[in-house]
Amino acid sequence: MHIPFNRSPGLPSSLEYMAQATAGGHLSGDGPFTKKCSEWIERQTGVFKALLTTSCSHALDISSRLCNILPGDEVILPSYTFSSTANAFAGMGAQLVFVDIRPDTMNLDERLVEAAVTPKTKAIVPVHYAGIACEMDEFTDIARQHNLYIVEDAAQGVMASYKGRALGAMSHFGTFSFHETKNFSMGEGGALLLGDAATAEAAEIIREKGTDRSKFFRGQVDKYSWVEWGSSYLPSELNAAFLWGQLEAAQEITDARMAIWQRYNAAFSALAAKGRVVLPTIPAHCTHNAHMFYMKAANLDERTRLLAHLKVRNILAVYHYVPLHSAPAGHKYGRFSGQDVYTTAESERLLRLPLYYGLSTQDVDRVIEAVHDFYAVN
Ligand SMILES: *Cc1c(COP(=O)(O)O)cnc(C)c1O
Repeated sequence: MHIPFNRSPGLPSSLEYMAQATAGGHLSGDGPFTKKCSEWIERQTGVFKALLTTSCSHALDISSRLCNILPGDEVILPSYTFSSTANAFAGMGAQLVFVDIRPDTMNLDERLVEAAVTPKTKAIVPVHYAGIACEMDEFTDIARQHNLYIVEDAAQGVMASYKGRALGAMSHFGTFSFHETKNFSMGEGGALLLGDAATAEAAEIIREKGTDRSKFFRGQVDKYSWVEWGSSYLPSELNAAFLWGQLEAAQEITDARMAIWQRYNAAFSALAAKGRVVLPTIPAHCTHNAHMFYMKAANLDERTRLLAHLKVRNILAVYHYVPLHSAPAGHKYGRFSGQDVYTTAESERLLRLPLYYGLSTQDVDRVIEAVHDFYAVN
């Protein structure tokens, strides 16, 4: 009866691959399943190199280190994002500069970023919210003009694209998440996407405890040694095997999510036309991946009542992202540049409906009916 917000796909193939990995007797990282997953990402996105990591947070940490962030450098990012986007740069001593989002896509507003650039700015971090792309051409122009890095937080963007280019593969660094709450999951995990050979080599070293072990395994050096600072950012083969079952079925999983997304979108179009709710905007040049279905209520009070109404009906809808600039660590590590016109106001209106691979049409219709019932009397 209870409809959860999310469930990770547990495919029989994933269990089979985990059994194979176990039988192989080697469960540490960078075995055959890790290789299959990273090659899949390279094929799917066209990126020069993809490295599987223990999380998207860790992929962001590696990116931040490779941007050579020094204490006092500034990094531009949205305040409407997950803490990991900010942690990666705050951890290197950066001053975070939060810029407002666009209300239609909830993404960093490309028209406001240039005004936030100072001589100390080192990087821009666009977050592709809900798998709907940021205006990357504009960010790329600004970054070229001011000689800045771009780190794309594409945690939610696997299988989505912008003008035909894969999210996460348009910049110096891109990051994916394979956390349980994302479209494809290995429990905890992620990937780092690297645009060229030099950064790929530097990233491999940081990921492998600061050693050139990856080169050693490829036969490029005859012994491996400690060459830089690093840590252990490679996931176990067991996790990679679980993920591989899903990546093999990525199109099927995406199609199933998309069918649910479209069913919600069609069902609420009349409410949206009457101005009762606001539905996601998908720009014509963006192909999204049905990562989430969100809608916006009139205001915080209406959202609170709608969430409670759904809960009584055993439906778990959620909201997220208390803007980082108003959180305790946001005050400590950052400042808002320009005015917060949309970040706070829009974040207070947004709620996410249940959407996962395996959610039945019957349950989707129960959610739809519950939302309609709410608006019939409110
Ligand atoms: C999920 C998410 C992350 C963190 O991903 P992990 O793999 O859990 O570290 C970072 N940024 C965004 C935008 C996310 O949605």
